[in-house]
Amino acid sequence: MSALRVSLAGVALLVGLGAAGCGGDPAPATQAPVAQESQGRQVPDASSSPGAAAGLTPSGAASAAPGGTTKHVFPLQGKGSYSHDHHDYPASDIIANCGLNALSPVNGTVLEVTRVDTWTAKVNEGSSRGGLSVSILGDDGARYYMSHFSSINNAIEAGVRVEAGQPVAKVGRTGDASACHIHFGLSPACQKTGDWWTRRGVIWPWSYLDAWKADQEKSPVAELNAWEQQHGCPAKATADP
Ligand SMILES: [Zn+2]
Repeated sequence: MSALRVSLAGVALLVGLGAAGCGGDPAPATQAPVAQESQGRQVPDASSSPGAAAGLTPSGAASAAPGGTTKHVFPLQGKGSYSHDHHDYPASDIIANCGLNALSPVNGTVLEVTRVDTWTAKVNEGSSRGGLSVSILGDDGARYYMSHFSSINNAIEAGVRVEAGQPVAKVGRTGDASACHIHFGLSPACQKTGDWWTRRGVIWPWSYLDAWKADQEKSPVAELNAWEQQHGCPAKATADP
């Protein structure tokens, strides 16, 4: 119903794009000013050898690692557009053509995969609003959530390693979605599974998406750690939606 509702404040251009819905006009390349290269956090990526580093048990602490050792990738192959707003809570809806590849934004380990769309408008249960979805624990300790897929690649299962840029699913509009898009959420790992109210997103992703789209590295880890220090990990949904 409201998954694509976009505030009118300051995003009139993008409202137009959003309203185009599935298969709508390709977005113009984001014209974000080229930010300063993030202050030199070029830590060598120790995790790229398959299975070596992170394995299935990411180091216990709920907090993300401070370093941000993972290079990030824009989570869509092809054109997509997103506004600087989202209904009800911080996240980004990346409007894109149905069937485009959604990509893992990081090197990491798959946390949760939902392959069956159980959402109904009548019940509108929070845990099922995403339809077909994937969450990934980045090697940087942050959690990345993407949803509304039409299908999820066979190899993508909980516990499987993924690399930044690896296709994981196809853009769709399962769950509470009126047009094809990727709902993209950034959150601390917290419970890792089951905590959809945190998983759906707690900080605004758009500035990170802007950077990744421009092939610049920008890590959400510091902002996520700050959020978690302030809020902890909520044990249940405090607002629905
Ligand atoms: Zn959304």
